[in-house]
Amino acid sequence: MSFPPPQDSAPLTRREAEGLVAEAVEDGRLERGPATRLGAGLADESIREPVLEGAFESKRRAKGDTVSVSRNVFIPLTNLCRDRCAYCTFAKLPESPEARTYSLDEVAEVVRGGVRMGCIEALFCLGDKPEIAHRSHREWLRRRGFASTAAYLVEGCRVAFEGGLLPHTNAGILSGDEMAALRRWNASMGLMLESTSPRLRGRGMAHFYAPDKDPSLRLRMHEEAGELRIPFTSGILLGIGETAEERVDTLLAIRDLADRYGHIQETIVQPFHPKPGTPMRAYSGLPDPEVAGWVAIARLVLGPEMNVQAPPNLAPEMLELLLRSGLNDWGGVSPITVDFINPEAPWPTFRELRRRTEAAGQRLVERLPVYPEYLLSRPEFFDAKVREVALRFVDASGSVLLRRGATVEAA
Ligand code: SF4
Repeated sequence: MSFPPPQDSAPLTRREAEGLVAEAVEDGRLERGPATRLGAGLADESIREPVLEGAFESKRRAKGDTVSVSRNVFIPLTNLCRDRCAYCTFAKLPESPEARTYSLDEVAEVVRGGVRMGCIEALFCLGDKPEIAHRSHREWLRRRGFASTAAYLVEGCRVAFEGGLLPHTNAGILSGDEMAALRRWNASMGLMLESTSPRLRGRGMAHFYAPDKDPSLRLRMHEEAGELRIPFTSGILLGIGETAEERVDTLLAIRDLADRYGHIQETIVQPFHPKPGTPMRAYSGLPDPEVAGWVAIARLVLGPEMNVQAPPNLAPEMLELLLRSGLNDWGGVSPITVDFINPEAPWPTFRELRRRTEAAGQRLVERLPVYPEYLLSRPEFFDAKVREVALRFVDASGSVLLRRGATVEAA
């Protein structure tokens, strides 16, 4: 069925929204015009509901009834950063009592704890090139024989890999050479694209003091990761000053990268929440229903095969709504470490996540930091030894063999 194109300025009716969504589900993808119109209407339940229903149907066709989760430890190798994003509480200045850079012994200790608790993923998430801004950090690295945080990170990943976990690294902007060095120990890597809007780099905007949030740099790193054949996680950050059109632009940019390189293994849809003490403390984030609506738009734009993730600790009241929005992944959840980026937001237990996922008629399954479609079928995306070790964690179908002591119910 096809519908005449409505006037761009006219508000959508529910019937028009249903038609646009039905076409996208049948075609496999939602295009820019309808995505922008539907996105702009998400505050209206009569528009949002058909979007959720269509996204859920799209997810169901390719992903069935499963929703995955990765049991991980979070290792914030350093919370120093050269950027100052206006919403961030993770980054600390060197003189802060909370500033911390992990020693390799401390990395090994966290890894041992993770292995004991049945974790498989070591998530390395850290500030962006702090050595550029902070002389004390440069000295810290130099005393240990490292020229850069990225070089130190390679060693951290080696320690985690040799300790029995599979690293996934998100360290901000990295060069091609740095990613190639990290690839030797990482099962996958990632960088939130966040937004392709250059406006957010303007004075008074979220990324004014964050040179590494320049969209062109972030797009280029995604391309280099594709050239290096690294299974890559991208994502969009919702509610930091961008418009509905810019959200659609960002999703389309991720789709374009996935089409060109085939390396986008998942896309995170993450809501901004204002935090005390930050320049954006008085901003309001998007209402929960609209966050679920944008998860659904992401599913429809990116298509049924994309792995779409929403972090459950950033929306604890609305897991049921998210489960209707077309996501098929909860991301990393840790039984032992907090979310250091959002420490005020505790992880749900695995038991609760399973209970609520099943209550919505879906099945919670564990996954590695890389998805089975890459691990089983695309060996060119891995360092040979990383793939060999990763394959020991799964059966022939890619299902995770739970580590001793770990059950999907155990927190
Ligand atoms: S780049 Fe990341 S760690 Fe650094 S200030 Fe921005 S959000 Fe915080």
